[in-house]
Amino acid sequence: MPPAKKTAKKTTKKVIAKKKSLVKKSVAEKKGDTKKNKKIFEPIRGMKDIVPRDEKYWLAIWKSARELARAYSYNYIETPIIEPTQLFVRSIGKGTDVVDKEMYTFDDRDGNKVSMRPEFTAGIARSFISNGMMNMPQPVKLWTRGPLFRYDRPQAGRYRQFHQFGCEVIGGRDPVIDAELINIGYNFYRDLGINTEVYINSIGSLEDRQNYIIELVGYLRSKRSYLSDLSKKRLTKNPLRILDSKDEQDKEVLQDAPQIIEWLSQDSKDFFMKVLEYLDELHIPYVLQPTLVRGLDYYCDTVYEYYVEGGDHTSQGALGGGGRYDALIEQLGGRESTPASGFGLGLERCVLAMKAAQKEGKKVVTQEKPTIFFAQLGEMARRKALRIFEELRRDGVYVMSTLSKGSLRAQLELADSMKVTHTAILGQKEVQDKTIIIRDMATGMQEIIDQKTLAKHLQNILKK
Ligand code: AMP
Repeated sequence: MPPAKKTAKKTTKKVIAKKKSLVKKSVAEKKGDTKKNKKIFEPIRGMKDIVPRDEKYWLAIWKSARELARAYSYNYIETPIIEPTQLFVRSIGKGTDVVDKEMYTFDDRDGNKVSMRPEFTAGIARSFISNGMMNMPQPVKLWTRGPLFRYDRPQAGRYRQFHQFGCEVIGGRDPVIDAELINIGYNFYRDLGINTEVYINSIGSLEDRQNYIIELVGYLRSKRSYLSDLSKKRLTKNPLRILDSKDEQDKEVLQDAPQIIEWLSQDSKDFFMKVLEYLDELHIPYVLQPTLVRGLDYYCDTVYEYYVEGGDHTSQGALGGGGRYDALIEQLGGRESTPASGFGLGLERCVLAMKAAQKEGKKVVTQEKPTIFFAQLGEMARRKALRIFEELRRDGVYVMSTLSKGSLRAQLELADSMKVTHTAILGQKEVQDKTIIIRDMATGMQEIIDQKTLAKHLQNILKK
């Protein structure tokens, strides 16, 4: 028997030694790995993290978007980030910068050509058709938010991944729809503390536009030698884009160019006048901008862009923009005559505008409601706090807490940074006495209350 015991012991020792050496080896391998791959990864050029120091801007933005969408009875929609490339080519159009130069396009593993969405409208129009939304009461009002991708030249306010808040109304051609959309965008910025003005134009029907393009190209050909190289190229590819050229010499040539407004059919003119009348009614400041065309193929009639009021309109570009797209649904295979209208508001530029307004001393961010922080001290209190916190949440009393910070000081500092009005503090003594301390963060005054009355007490504070 004894020798057998010895062998057993030896075997266990061997196993342990082997395990140890394996662990050592794997640690060494890992070390080697990190040595080899010391490179620190950065986000892809033109893509940015949204970091905690900007949380307050983004949360205010999401809140404003959601509340406005609900107030004007828009329903939420979310479409895939990747769609068939042809969807964007057919909607946005060949010859546009977005399709020709800016799309992230690749073959998936089955060899299908797919693209990451550069805007929302095409995907939402596709979804309207795929989901049979033409059978719902018309018009269908949809809102969305999320990331978009354009292989743009990165600079301030221009990124390769950016976010938008978008609204689309599909299945209605009424000037009040355009005015409502413009109003939502205007209110969105105003709720966040940004005053904007709307640049607006009408580009008429597809037919109006084609007639106008013939006239415009005729005029620009006669001035060809004065145009910039880029505009010369656009003369054949996408002449309307020349209208928003930033080149000084182009601008001079454009001063005498024919204006699209003169080429509108009576129907388009009447429609546009009505939109403007509604905007007057809503007291929305707008500027008629005859050169504004928005550049994408699907637009017709009303087109508009939002700019910071009194801001520099050339450096950073528009905050957001939109327009009518009456033919798109039909063009994508949907039911005939499904007119539509929508906007996309860029949110990175919105954050930049909020920061700029804040620098000027304006109050921009809509504050979350004041709330209460729940702090605990010691292991026993932490366990008890865990339960009380859940009970409060179930009773609909929303307090904030963290179990990962041990010291009371660290918790109070966090409570302070979250701008809470009161902190509930549970220590060892309070657990034994079945009480809890309520601290007024502004005055530092503390009162001790019975744990049984806590929910009611906090509810009263939250009501104030
Ligand atoms: P667009 O459809 O191109 O007029 O874009 C609407 C809004 O989205 C713009 O006014 C910008 O606020 C935003 N936007 C467009 N492209 C970018 C980009 N590359 N980076 C950041 N924001 C963008």
